[in-house]
Amino acid sequence: MSEFELIDRIRARAITRDDIVLGIGDDAAILRPPPSKQLVVTADTLNAGVHFPEATKPGDIGWKSLAVNLSDLAAMGAQPAWCTLSLSLPESDPEWLDGFIDGFLDLAARHDIALVGGDTTRGPLSIAVTAMGLVDNGSAVRRDGAKVGDDIWVTGTLGDAAAALQSLFAGAALDRALRMRLDRPAPRVAAGLRLVGLANSCIDVSDGLLADLGHICERSKVGAEVEISKLPASPSLQRFAPAMRIPWQAGGGDDYELCFTAAPRLRDEIRQALDFAETPGTRIGRIVAGTGVKALDAEGNEWQPPQAGYVHFA
Ligand code: ADP
Ligand code: MG
Repeated sequence: MSEFELIDRIRARAITRDDIVLGIGDDAAILRPPPSKQLVVTADTLNAGVHFPEATKPGDIGWKSLAVNLSDLAAMGAQPAWCTLSLSLPESDPEWLDGFIDGFLDLAARHDIALVGGDTTRGPLSIAVTAMGLVDNGSAVRRDGAKVGDDIWVTGTLGDAAAALQSLFAGAALDRALRMRLDRPAPRVAAGLRLVGLANSCIDVSDGLLADLGHICERSKVGAEVEISKLPASPSLQRFAPAMRIPWQAGGGDDYELCFTAAPRLRDEIRQALDFAETPGTRIGRIVAGTGVKALDAEGNEWQPPQAGYVHFA
């Protein structure tokens, strides 16, 4: 199958939107953002063996390659609109491509984000996605807005994907719920949209909670105190001993939850916003004067993470 037949196979299945003047098929796409909105753009690459185990199913890779980008849009409070997909494939395998596109377009349809272009080349398996979203002028939630005294919140639960990955490496039997968190993360788009106007800062948790919260602190020129005993754990994760579970929750990565900060007087509004988005939320600490993230155990002593987060080229 040629490059063009592969592209035709993708084009035949892509959804469309009214704000697409020209989609897949020309030298470039033409899009029409509404005048009252700002365009929010993000890109993420997934490489085989680095971002997903080599044996991952094509549908799961397709889903995840879009999910990680939607998670970035969610963290900005943006409404997903359009995306591009650049595929480097070791061979022309229509069956693999169909599975991949199934996963990618399944998630795309759920968030009404349209695939409007991309590139298809031969090479080691690698997937690069660019996602574009829309926010009302000036209303995006950024990393640099955290204020001393803010509550620190996190959506959902932490550590499931890290537990799944470790179990895979160890060859251990794997809980299905944990496996889903690793292979099919659900980006918190609805919650991100509802937090606009309430959260002072937000980041999505991809490299580990403490590391990502550290980015908020750096950009906002503040410090953070996190109560380790408050980090939310799923029922599946609670079956692991705290000595294993807590490092995964604090630093494991691949969670794709939102960590955000907001004034304590907005607690009720935030509860309501998260309820509307059918998203659980937990308060895990507070923003303080100073720099850096301090993790505290139940006795108020400083807790040292064995590993702060995943760093490429470290
Ligand atoms: P060009 O040589 O001008 O870059 P291509 O042959 O690479 O054109 O692509 C033809 C059309 O197909 C373009 O509109 C491009 O955006 C689209 N396209 C190519 N690969 C993909 C892909 N993997 N997913 C979605 N659209 C793609
Ligand atoms: Mg091209």
